[in-house]
Amino acid sequence: MKEQQAVDRQTYDQVILPIYSPAEFIPVRGEGSRVWDQQGKEYIDFAGGIAVLALGHCHPALVSAVREQSEKLWHVSNIFTNEPTLRLAQKLIAATFAERVFFANSGAEANEAAFKLARHYAITQYSPYKTKIIAFKQGFHGRTFFTVSVGGQAKYADGFGPKPADIIHVPFNDLDAVKAVIDENTCAVVLEPVQGEGGVTAATQEFMQGVRQLCDDNNALLVFDEVQSGMGRTGKLFTYMHYGVAPDILTTAKALGGGFPISAMLTTDKIAKVMGLGTHGTTYGGNPLACAVGNAAFDIINTPEVLDGVEKRREYFVEALNQLNDKYHVFSEIRGLGLLIGAELTGKLQGHSKDILQACADEGLMMLNAGPNVLRFTPSLIISEEEMKSGMAKLDKALEKVLA
Ligand SMILES: *Cc1c(COP(=O)(O)O)cnc(C)c1O
Repeated sequence: MKEQQAVDRQTYDQVILPIYSPAEFIPVRGEGSRVWDQQGKEYIDFAGGIAVLALGHCHPALVSAVREQSEKLWHVSNIFTNEPTLRLAQKLIAATFAERVFFANSGAEANEAAFKLARHYAITQYSPYKTKIIAFKQGFHGRTFFTVSVGGQAKYADGFGPKPADIIHVPFNDLDAVKAVIDENTCAVVLEPVQGEGGVTAATQEFMQGVRQLCDDNNALLVFDEVQSGMGRTGKLFTYMHYGVAPDILTTAKALGGGFPISAMLTTDKIAKVMGLGTHGTTYGGNPLACAVGNAAFDIINTPEVLDGVEKRREYFVEALNQLNDKYHVFSEIRGLGLLIGAELTGKLQGHSKDILQACADEGLMMLNAGPNVLRFTPSLIISEEEMKSGMAKLDKALEKVLA
């Protein structure tokens, strides 16, 4: 075998498109909520690969799912179907409002499909002018050009020329703002039940119910982007279940494959019907390898043991964060739902989430932010008490250092 050259963080700056600035250390191994870098230094993982690793690193059931499927069948394309894809679709349908599933590989792709479906449905069922999409400021739906345009942060969408048109952004949780712009030419309202990237903000009950009603009154589809909030993240299989408000289209990704790239768009028979042969497609979507892992992850996540454990772990996190706040007075609010937790920074640390992440890495803690002013916690749904305790002790030290 050809000998491999050593790589380090400097290699990154030479060979990768300069769109990220990853931490200085390079993780090489993970187990549960623990990770080790090239030097063997140990980290506690409170980031979970951005809400992806719902079952932590290298969960034995997911490892065997990959191993077993990798020795049977990797890929056939959608010219053929396969057993894992059909099984996973059946499971998602049995557990939700949905009757039809489209599989893709990333959150953005699932959303791209959702927005195309919403437009196509409105145009074919109502009128060629029914194309308006109402979305929300601070919303995030991915980085393809359509999805980033539906997202509510101009800084991500600007600079690439003419955008897909007829998309309007209003403040989140502001029902009157939706009321003011929704009309017969609206095809969809798109929202994250808990805004993730935008700062970890949960929708209010009144807002969710109100938007549902407004959609019904205007024959517009309600699209929930549960790419981040879905698959157990907030303690129910999908976050819409907390509200008792079902969407017409739902997208999910991140935790769906527990670290293996896969996403899904869910909808009803009535809506799915408009997508005739050839109207949309993907090469990899629904491939047996990804779906085999998805099935294994689903079978573990969709159990009372895992889902009920989320709230208990949230309580631990919130209590520990409140204790840190008593000591340092750095959080103005701790919010979110389940294990999608945001701690808004105040005082001396306002706007300094990046510095805290850096200090955490030094202490051996993988942390995440949601903008400059919010620390975000998206750990494994099955993180152990000992791992939480160890991680919080590291966060304590990191805050002490940043404040010094
Ligand atoms: C991460 C995320 C996306 C984009 O998913 P990708 O897999 O990066 O394309 C879309 N919507 C939400 C709510 C997300 O959190």
